[in-house]
Amino acid sequence: MYPQKKATRELTKLHNRRLVFTTIYNAKQISRADVARLTDLTPTTVSSVVSELMRKRLVIEDGTASLPRGKPPAVLQVNKDAYHMICLDLAKASFQGAVINLRGEILCQRSIYLAGRTGDAAVAVAFDLIDSLLPTIGSPVLGIAVGAPGIIDPDKGIVHRAVNFEWYDLPLRQRLYERYRLPVYIANASHAAVLAEYTFGRRRNVPDLVVVKVGYDVGAGTILNGEPFLGHGFGAGEIGHMVVVENGERCMCGNFGCLETVSSSRAIVKRAQAIARSNPASLLNKFAPTPAELDIRSVLCAYEAGEPALRPVVAEVGHYLGIAIASLVSVLSVPYVLIAGSVSNFGQPLLDAITQEVYARSLARMVSQTTIETASLGARIVLLGAAGLLLRHEMGVI
Ligand SMILES: [Zn+2]
Repeated sequence: MYPQKKATRELTKLHNRRLVFTTIYNAKQISRADVARLTDLTPTTVSSVVSELMRKRLVIEDGTASLPRGKPPAVLQVNKDAYHMICLDLAKASFQGAVINLRGEILCQRSIYLAGRTGDAAVAVAFDLIDSLLPTIGSPVLGIAVGAPGIIDPDKGIVHRAVNFEWYDLPLRQRLYERYRLPVYIANASHAAVLAEYTFGRRRNVPDLVVVKVGYDVGAGTILNGEPFLGHGFGAGEIGHMVVVENGERCMCGNFGCLETVSSSRAIVKRAQAIARSNPASLLNKFAPTPAELDIRSVLCAYEAGEPALRPVVAEVGHYLGIAIASLVSVLSVPYVLIAGSVSNFGQPLLDAITQEVYARSLARMVSQTTIETASLGARIVLLGAAGLLLRHEMGVI
């Protein structure tokens, strides 16, 4: 056979294998006949691909589909523990790591405080985390995936700029591959977050989706037509540095009045500390020994306990987020904008303030077709986004 023909046949086989696996994955439980119907593949091709997937223990036959009469066909489902994945969320204060199965179930989770370590020392923390997870894994490992802050080139596996860790043009994928010899994928944390919601979240498989992650920093991740949209320089969604306050406070990036200076968890904690200092009777002082020790968690507790001085703070945070989100809605016209990150825990009052601002700044018709809601995956969102990366690239799940 000509090499080219052989290559084409191999590609077709790979394509069919991924198509059948994705169809079974997305259906949860499905018969061979329904796989053929949904994929437009012949029943013979489906049978042969399914046999191969079953030999590899990726798909199992379980139970039977209920039909009114006749011999019920066997039902196929993904063997969720055929592979396990090592997923990392390199957040500002601590690195989180988890072992996750093919259905997004977290089997083991660890974290290591960064304690100011940067550069190579921060890379070593990621190694330590993976080393501590590896012995807990009872299935073959599909690969390692990492969500990290900053500008990331996922094709080359390079972190171009993560200021917090002092990583500049760090070949993180290569470093991880050299040590573990496993497939490695890396993505910006906000880009991972939207993939998490798309793969495992309440709005699973909604083809046009935006997640705005508001935590220590602020960024957005976008899926358009079922594909992650990263932008030409991989910086799509870096809304944290859109200027929303003229002559505002100085930002870490050097500019003034960026969205992060007024809407990040840092900005909220700073405002709360000022309230706690100026008013000793404030509820905030019940949740931390001193105002300087307040963090976003204790501020949230004080908010939930009813501290009135935090209400205008949350409204203002929502107002500024709304300015940036109005632009996203006008440009992208997506059906859902999901708010994630620690700041999303302020819940409905924050959503109301955002929505009000988005309405004030966009065509009513466009906003009425967009739902702004809290993301569904909580603090696990970046870890699950990393799992989504591996499923997408290694198993073809889309
Ligand atoms: Zn900035």
